[in-house]
Amino acid sequence: MSAKWVYFFGKDRTEGDGKNKNLLGGKGAGLAEMTSIGIPVPPGFTITTEACVQFYKDNKNYPAGLWDQVLAALATLETAMGKKFGDIENPLLVSVRSGARVSMPGMMDTVLNLGLTDESVKGLAKSSGNERFAYDSYRRFIQMFSDVVLGIGHHQFEHILKDMKNARGVKEDTELNAADMKELVEKYKTLVLSEIGRQFPQDPKEQLKYAIDAVFDSWNNQRAKTYRKINKMSDDWGTAVNVQSMVFGNMGDDCGTGVAFTRDPSTGEKVFFGEYLVNAQGEDVVAGIRTPEPIAKLQTAMPEVFGQLEEVYKKLENHYKDVQDIEFTIERGTLYMLQTRTGKRTARAAVKIAYDMVQEGLIDKRTAVLRVAPEQVDQLLHPMIDTSIKYDIIAKGLPASPGAAVGKAVFSAEDAESWAAQGEKVILVRAETSPEDIGGMHAAQGILTATGGMTSHAAVVARGMGKCCVAGCGAIRINEHQRLFTASGVTIKEGDILTINGSTGEVIVGAAKLIEPELSGEFAEILTWADTFRTLGVRANADTPHDSQVAREFGAEGIGLCRTEHMFFDGNRIDAVREMILADNEEGRRKALAKVKPYQKEDFLGLFTAMEGLPVTIRLLDPPLHEFIPHNDEEIDRVAKASGVSAEHLKAKATELHEFNPMLGHRGCRLGLTYPEIYEMQVYAIFEAACELVKQGKVVKPEVMIPLVGSYKELEILKDMTNEVAQETIARYGVKLDYLVGTMIELPRAALTANEIAEHAQFFSFGTNDLTQTTLGVSRDDAGKFLPIYVEKGIFKEDPFVSIDVSGVGQLVEMGVSKGRSVRPDLKTGICGEHGGDPDSIAFCQKAGLNYVSCSPFRVPVARLAAAHAALK
Ligand code: ADP
Ligand code: MG
Ligand code: MG
Repeated sequence: MSAKWVYFFGKDRTEGDGKNKNLLGGKGAGLAEMTSIGIPVPPGFTITTEACVQFYKDNKNYPAGLWDQVLAALATLETAMGKKFGDIENPLLVSVRSGARVSMPGMMDTVLNLGLTDESVKGLAKSSGNERFAYDSYRRFIQMFSDVVLGIGHHQFEHILKDMKNARGVKEDTELNAADMKELVEKYKTLVLSEIGRQFPQDPKEQLKYAIDAVFDSWNNQRAKTYRKINKMSDDWGTAVNVQSMVFGNMGDDCGTGVAFTRDPSTGEKVFFGEYLVNAQGEDVVAGIRTPEPIAKLQTAMPEVFGQLEEVYKKLENHYKDVQDIEFTIERGTLYMLQTRTGKRTARAAVKIAYDMVQEGLIDKRTAVLRVAPEQVDQLLHPMIDTSIKYDIIAKGLPASPGAAVGKAVFSAEDAESWAAQGEKVILVRAETSPEDIGGMHAAQGILTATGGMTSHAAVVARGMGKCCVAGCGAIRINEHQRLFTASGVTIKEGDILTINGSTGEVIVGAAKLIEPELSGEFAEILTWADTFRTLGVRANADTPHDSQVAREFGAEGIGLCRTEHMFFDGNRIDAVREMILADNEEGRRKALAKVKPYQKEDFLGLFTAMEGLPVTIRLLDPPLHEFIPHNDEEIDRVAKASGVSAEHLKAKATELHEFNPMLGHRGCRLGLTYPEIYEMQVYAIFEAACELVKQGKVVKPEVMIPLVGSYKELEILKDMTNEVAQETIARYGVKLDYLVGTMIELPRAALTANEIAEHAQFFSFGTNDLTQTTLGVSRDDAGKFLPIYVEKGIFKEDPFVSIDVSGVGQLVEMGVSKGRSVRPDLKTGICGEHGGDPDSIAFCQKAGLNYVSCSPFRVPVARLAAAHAALK
């Protein structure tokens, strides 16, 4: 006996399991399910995806038994409909519809009215008593079949139709009469003959076989293949084929066809949403041949049908417990459903619908949380461009930090600050940014850079600030000197208004219309539900009281990474920092550091206050010192004057500090070991600030983090120093204060020797930006030239700086956790790289057994949701 390839669906007998989309395809499963819950669906049968898979295995031959089963199902269908295929009295017509597991726009188009021939069209005219309708159906069939199966472009037919309408002086095809339709059929057939050298097929069974073949073939057409590649779908799934008896929306004014959503897919509002066309068939609604009517009109036009439709859509939503996207046809006042599937929706709608459905008792909170995609909600936290308007896009870079910004172009950080101080909104345009641009970046509405990747300085800092950024926009040519850039032949000068879209990477001339984000009550509520499901903690990367406050409002449970170097740039302190760097000996450095310390202490007072009661992880100074001194002549002169040293001296110092490979150079704990006084000053500032607040009765939880450790000995020395300073300070203030000392794991050697390191660390924070860079040997600041190509060629599935490289870097993280816990079972572990806000990476962190993730403040809601998903899945 051959396998079962064909499943019938009909009122009295539905063989397929409507839950089994893998076997029946999405469309077939929906048709079977609707039929089995008593919704009116024209009967038919589904050829399984397995049949398609077998067809390809057998060199494009039908698997044994398939055609016989098709003929048997056809016979059942004839009986059910009381009509016969190809009959000259009362012919059965069918549609042939493709349907993969998930809907695929690249797949074959549907063929309607199959079974019509020169003979059976007469039967249709007779049985319907409507000759115009019969020939309208036939001409539609010839066009669709020729297009989809015979490969004759549909525009050739549309051309003929247009000529006919012109000749008759009418605008719409509904105005053509029976004789016109007959004439069209003849013209179409002549076209087919001249195109393929033979008559349009006149045997209905042959037509059916051709159409099934075409659906099978369409699984491997170029469009479908490309679509699968982009959407990461398997080539092995195959498509189902649905053969379904026709119902007709084109029999007159009591007929029609439409598409609808059970709720508004863009706002989530609980209103029935859709469009329909009177006296029309199939794709007419979406094809834009005529302008469809809003569904609300159906209520007055055909109240009875609207009543049926209301009943059906409510039943469907209740059954699937989710928004449905439906297709229907009305034949002489009777409603038939032709498709149902889960409705796609915007982030805003997803949140509202999930929330409402819990209130309505349709779904539980767990389901609601899982219905909202973490990747999607990012949209809700940033101003967005109103995309209903067309804009003049001149370039496209990397979507480095989402949201949108409008402002006047400026070409230096200083200009950004001074223009902003005068109340101007500006976009900072730079080849790339460096830490000294922080002030300007803060002052700008958004940042546009010509080079650098998704984790370039500009991108990381912008995301941290929740500021829109387009990075690595190679298409813009910046002339900093003349203060302008060009792209696509357009020149944008200083002061010209432009818009950047950090969600798409687009650069737009002029001011686009922005929509303000709203962190709605419903969204906040769903996040609190998410919190009850997740086991991972969520912290924020924040350096200022303001950012900490934002993070806390978004639900951060502490700070996972405070980068102290950002504080070094603020205001006047940069002068003292530079003095320290320029000093020739320890004494000079200590003198300068003494000036920096009050500022640092003030910073920490602010941070601890904003985060009262929550842990705050402070990383001691990390970047190489040369980042703090100016490099161009103009800047050098300015700083020389301000700090009272000669420009020559400054230049010499810059040369001395120059490194070939700064990322692997004199930075991180290497600074702390060569210039202990720097770290010492920072640790004093931390503990004096903490002790002062404890004295005031506040709860402070400092966690001191030593960066770039590769050997336990580095950590041992710096940990001892930290403890000494801490103990001394705590004793001096006479308070009780618990604190932790830990390290970042961001070098492969640290992960490999994590057991040794854990002897000296109370916590590990995986710095996955550097760990990715050092494990892959890929410089994150230089990867822009090849990384996109690597992703395109599939060498990396995704940018490893965006989503953690699970099979490589992931192993080091897992190893670090298990080796670390082997000597210190209560070791606290977290991740503080950019990956901390990426949903896939968060899922990995859950599996790796980390205690928390830390991400930029504006990603905190995303991370809370993603952590809940990771725990629930
Ligand atoms: P798609 O996958 O592009 O949505 P479908 O297979 O759903 O293609 O077919 C498109 C449209 O054709 C349907 O929305 C419906 O209007 C019409 N259609 C398909 N099958 C039938 C049928 N048996 N009777 C009437 N109309 C049909
Ligand atoms: Mg459809
Ligand atoms: Mg690092």
